[in-house]
Amino acid sequence: MEQIVASLRDEGFRITPQRMAIVDYLLKTEDHPSADHIHKVVRKRYPMISLSTVYKTLYLLKEKNLVNEIEVEGESRFDAHTDDHINIVCIKCGKIDDVDEETLKDIQVKAAKKSKYLILKSSFELHGYCSSCKSKMK
Ligand SMILES: [Zn+2]
Ligand SMILES: [Zn+2]
Repeated sequence: MEQIVASLRDEGFRITPQRMAIVDYLLKTEDHPSADHIHKVVRKRYPMISLSTVYKTLYLLKEKNLVNEIEVEGESRFDAHTDDHINIVCIKCGKIDDVDEETLKDIQVKAAKKSKYLILKSSFELHGYCSSCKSKMK
């Protein structure tokens, strides 16, 4: 949190309480929320905040590589977990979970061996049904 705020401040950005609230929420949540969802949450504390402020802040954070944007079913979702990891996406309810990094490391090691590439970063998604959607399918 402090790092993010310091890096934004270094860039000459005004750190408003609204922006802080957006960063704070993104860091605390395990979800991969949409801008709409973040707007709803932050608006409870800061009723004056507009959706465009939320978008501006998110794209600013993205530009600084502090959040990742993932597109799911045409909707942008935001992830403050910027270490390499796999996002697993439910195509039914839109829930997104993280898969542990070890799994991704295994894939990277195998892919590097096979292709003889030096792999620097990776991002990918798995799509399917989450456990609760899966159980409703029967
Ligand atoms: Zn689901
Ligand atoms: Zn994630």
